[in-house]
Amino acid sequence: MPRITTLVRHLEARGLKVEYVKGWSTRGSSSFNPKGVMDHWTAGPKGSKSRPSLRVVTNGRPGLPGPLCNVYLDRKGTAVVVAAGRANHGGYGSWKGHTGNSKFFGIEAEAANASDWTDAMRDAYPSVNAALLDAINEDDASYVCGHSEYALPRGRKIDINGYTMDDMREQTQAVLRGGKVTAKPKPAPKPNTKPKPKPKVKKQWNDKLPDGSTIFPTDYEDLVLDKGFGQITVGAFQILMEAIKIGVRYNQRWDGDWGKLSVKDGMEWLQSNGYYKVMQHARGGYPKGTKLKVDGGDGYWFWYELQRFLKARGFYNKTTEGVPLKLDGDPEGWTIYGFQRYMNTQNGS
Ligand SMILES: [Zn+2]
Repeated sequence: MPRITTLVRHLEARGLKVEYVKGWSTRGSSSFNPKGVMDHWTAGPKGSKSRPSLRVVTNGRPGLPGPLCNVYLDRKGTAVVVAAGRANHGGYGSWKGHTGNSKFFGIEAEAANASDWTDAMRDAYPSVNAALLDAINEDDASYVCGHSEYALPRGRKIDINGYTMDDMREQTQAVLRGGKVTAKPKPAPKPNTKPKPKPKVKKQWNDKLPDGSTIFPTDYEDLVLDKGFGQITVGAFQILMEAIKIGVRYNQRWDGDWGKLSVKDGMEWLQSNGYYKVMQHARGGYPKGTKLKVDGGDGYWFWYELQRFLKARGFYNKTTEGVPLKLDGDPEGWTIYGFQRYMNTQNGS
């Protein structure tokens, strides 16, 4: 299936205010065969008045090329068509047996979190879902999922918890049946997992867990570049390892603890990328070329090889003041900074 250029028509047919970003009809890969719709929020600034995330969802960001959605929903409930082709929004996951961005339209609504919806957005969102289902001749709203429902491993994403998606599907189905979105949805309940999880990772420095909860960054780009190898950064790394199936399986019980098993994962992960195999130079009485062991001890060679990995990808070259960085095996600030920057790019697929 090629790009789906009937989007504008279908959105208008559902009574939505529709705009589009120039170039929408040819934006996104033509290898696109959507079977469903994935709902997201942008995690942009809370209570914003304008469209702070429109540019990034159109053009992408370093490490993740745009488009990052097909339709962007602004605070006034306007559906802005960004791309008719495949967009980078889902990452790894599954819904109703379908997996990958080629199988889902992506909608990004300009909301910071579960409690940041405008009435106009709540009115419009189910109709946007319905219009996209119309575009693929689907009349079953169960083909609408939230990113958090799709994303694997579970807990990797939090959008759009708290809306809730069951309400969203019910309202979408009502639109599809030709009904209206009735009854203003109740205010967002707290996500029903643990005591008061807060999707506010962006503002949290990662030397300690937020409010004693166990919420880790579920958008890697939310990881703050604070050069601290605290529980949040380690937790993000553990989530990433589980997502790419390296080493121990956390089974979603990430603890943010840089223990022996996590270090072993790090070593296996480096090895799978061609690093952490042999000593790059003589050291401690061992000759260059001595085989490195996956022993879970994060000594000199682990950090040295992580630095080499990061350097090869442009994440460990210079300080922000332009001072060249050395391969010194020291887990100091800039190594962690580069590691965090690398993880920032690991969203999407
Ligand atoms: Zn998302």
